[in-house]
Parts: sequence; structure tokens; C-alpha cells
Amino acid sequence: MSDSTNPFTSPSGKRATCMEMLQLYLDGEVTQEQRAYFLHHMDMCMPCFKGYQVDMAIKELLKTRCCGEGAPGDLVQQIKAQIAQQNS
Ligand SMILES: [Zn+2]
Repeated sequence: MSDSTNPFTSPSGKRATCMEMLQLYLDGEVTQEQRAYFLHHMDMCMPCFKGYQVDMAIKELLKTRCCGEGAPGDLVQQIKAQIAQQNS
């Protein structure tokens, strides 16, 4: 398997890490090509899949209980820890 067609690879040849790809995807700063690549990648990459699920869970939670106060950092940490435990 080659990463030579990875659309996340920068022009200088530096390969994006999973975290970088995930962050770009979550920020919506991806091209259609990158989006398709990442969705496919996530099917096979457990760290990316988990990271995506954690982020979605946090966003859902903030949506339902947020009153414009911003995300409490320790709450986010708690959720991440919980999900990490569930998946281990
Ligand atoms: Zn990955």
C-alpha cells in the first residue's frame, strides 16, 4: 500500500499525520478529494475513527447543554477518557 496518492501530502512532500488529517477534516478545511480520502482512510484506521467519534460526541453534548459559555475543558477531558475506556 502506498501513500503516494494521499491528497493531504504537502507540496514539500511532508506526509500529514492522522491527527493532522482528522483536524483538517473536522475543521472542514479539506477539498473534496481530501474528504473522500479521509473517509476511506477512517474505515481502516481505528485511531482516526475513534478520534472522529470523540469529536462528534463532544459536539453533540455541547450542542445539547451549551448556553454560550464555551466548552469547559475538564468536561471534554472526561468525555475523552470515558470513550477511551469504552473502546479499550
Ligand atoms: Zn488514521
